[in-house]
Amino acid sequence: MFRSARIKLTLWYLLIIMIISAIFSLIIYRSITFELNRFANKQRVFFQRPLNHLDPSPGIKVRIAPPLNPELIEESERRVAYSLVIINIGIVSISGIIGYFLAGRTLKPIHTMVEEQKRFITDASHELRTPLTALKSSIEVHLRDKALTTAAAREVLKSNLEDVNNLQTLSDNLLQLAQYQDPKLHISPEKTSTDEVVSSAMKRIKPIADEKHMTIEKKGKAYTFEVDPKAISNLLVILLENAVKYSPAKSNIEVLVASTDGNINLSVRDEGIGIPAKDLPYIFDRFYRSDKSRSKEQTNGYGLGLSIARRIVLSHGGSIKVKRRASKGTEFIITLPTQFHFS
Ligand code: ADP
Repeated sequence: MFRSARIKLTLWYLLIIMIISAIFSLIIYRSITFELNRFANKQRVFFQRPLNHLDPSPGIKVRIAPPLNPELIEESERRVAYSLVIINIGIVSISGIIGYFLAGRTLKPIHTMVEEQKRFITDASHELRTPLTALKSSIEVHLRDKALTTAAAREVLKSNLEDVNNLQTLSDNLLQLAQYQDPKLHISPEKTSTDEVVSSAMKRIKPIADEKHMTIEKKGKAYTFEVDPKAISNLLVILLENAVKYSPAKSNIEVLVASTDGNINLSVRDEGIGIPAKDLPYIFDRFYRSDKSRSKEQTNGYGLGLSIARRIVLSHGGSIKVKRRASKGTEFIITLPTQFHFS
């Protein structure tokens, strides 16, 4: 598909260049032939005048060129036409090569985007298919069970509802991922305080932190920055939720706010299980879950949180880094510019 689009675009480039080149060649040909004929006419008129107007003074030799031969003019015209055809063939050949190269460059970002979307759809449908198949077979098996009691049916429904909730989380995450792909449509920057966004995220996470008797501490001063408060709060919720998910009960989480070189730094530190060094380069990839057997069984999730977090940060022109803490646990460090500009 990409190859045929590239060839089509090259042909369009060539057609435009050929039309322009043909128009200019025609103008050049007409100008040259016009000049040649005008010159020949002048020569002819000159030779038709009476000879006495030359009145050569005695002793002075007058050299007169003979009138131009019409065959010579025709031959010159043919030569001009021939040269123009050769030049046009050259232009078309060179333009074809350059056009093919330029078409490739023009289409490359579109090609990358299409490939990325294809991969996204494949990954998403794969992730959706597995829980849907499990849900479907559970319903079918229990529907066939004639001895199913009301209590057992309630249990099945409860487990099905859990699966449906997980699927809803997955579809919400996929939607968020797609939304932050196009920041111009989904990001509304405004001046706000770091305190406000951090507090709003902490409030949203408190119920699940309380369940595990965990504490979340906020450290550092408050600064003003220009961000989409909802998006940055979502970003902190993702990091805090992970910190809760991957930390033992009764442990502590810190949110640090600082300012360096005109940027705002937000760090989320936990005392959890940490991320193995081999997984660090991949954890921001879509659907990547570190040490799958461990995290899949113990915690639910689809490996989308950190890719959404990265998209939010990138859409604000910032950066996100992850560090294994020397003592224990993980630290995520976000750097955001104080002034918003679409990246
Ligand atoms: P999910 O948490 O849904 O699996 P994420 O994209 O949020 O997906 O995280 C990707 C992986 O990174 C997780 O599966 C987990 O293994 C690892 N991870 C993320 N945050 C932490 C953390 N604070 N501590 C330990 N591991 C983490």
